[in-house]
Amino acid sequence: MVTLEGMMRSAILAAARSPQLEQLVSAAPVSRSVVRRFVAGTTTEDAIDASRALVHDGLAVTLDFLGEDTEDAGQARAATEAYVELLGALGAAGLTPPTEVSVKLSALGMLLDEKLASDNVLAICRAADAADTTVTIDMEDHTTTDASLDLLLRVRKDFPETGAVLQAYLRRTEADCRDLAVAGSRIRLCKGAYDEPESVAYQSDLEVSRSYVRCANVLLAGGGYPMFATHDPRLVAILEDRVRWYDRPVDTFEFQMLYGVRPVEQRRLAELGYAVRVYVPYGTQWYGYLMRRLAERPANTALFLRALVGR
Ligand code: FAD
Repeated sequence: MVTLEGMMRSAILAAARSPQLEQLVSAAPVSRSVVRRFVAGTTTEDAIDASRALVHDGLAVTLDFLGEDTEDAGQARAATEAYVELLGALGAAGLTPPTEVSVKLSALGMLLDEKLASDNVLAICRAADAADTTVTIDMEDHTTTDASLDLLLRVRKDFPETGAVLQAYLRRTEADCRDLAVAGSRIRLCKGAYDEPESVAYQSDLEVSRSYVRCANVLLAGGGYPMFATHDPRLVAILEDRVRWYDRPVDTFEFQMLYGVRPVEQRRLAELGYAVRVYVPYGTQWYGYLMRRLAERPANTALFLRALVGR
């Protein structure tokens, strides 16, 4: 059934791909506080400051240098260098661990040349390893899933701790969880943030949540390290129950949430003794990221539109 919320979500996700709208929004005096709520800033220093504050509050961090769909090898190299610089600075600041990085293959040149993207990921993994931390490879739309998982498996030969992301809205994901729930395998499970066709993805919230729980059970029954990325209160409650059912010690899984989303809940879970990691984006290319966050929650769109018109 097509709901109003579903239509809004599709419209915002379409807007996320519109260069004209991107120009308009980026040029508008969008209230900094709206962008700042979800994005830590534009520079390496901003990323380090945000990480330090979160670590001080007992949270772990994964940093995302914003950028996607790079069709230029120079830009992909620049993104790689930004990560290498960041990892060096995080190590020097004594923040690794508990701070790691998340990378988008499309920002590292995957649309251009798989070898280029793979070389860039390996360069980032080497820098992460030198700083005693890890890399997680974000998952993008379903047309990239096979290539992303293939690349992950190749990277894991040298860097076995490299994390993968699986999206519960995809019909294939329960089977992918079975394949990847092996000893030492770090798997982030999220609902999925892209507009996907019914042929490959569950469409209703209920179906996606049910798939999430099935996948969580598979991951918890296996030997890997599940990273449960969700803000959904019902799923968090179910996960708290499931980790007890599987008798999982608190150092064998973690919760993950986005910077600026349910910060009180992040701290509540950490105070209960769970490992909680906050996904912190930074950089100048915040537009696509922000639009996906708005699509997840129409209430945020109203906040954003008010800021756009200066109210
Ligand atoms: P929802 O049903 O969307 O939200 C449940 C409740 O959480 C809402 O009712 C609201 O109270 C709160 N909430 C959720 N989103 C927001 C928001 N934006 N602002 C304010 N409140 C909100 N997706 C990918 O496709 N690939 C990835 O690699 C990826 N990595 C992720 C990493 C992390 C750490 C997280 C937390 C999410 C990631 N996502 C990724 C996004 C994910 O797929 C979902 O789109 C997103 O988490 C929203 O789903 P939800 O499980 O929080 O549930």
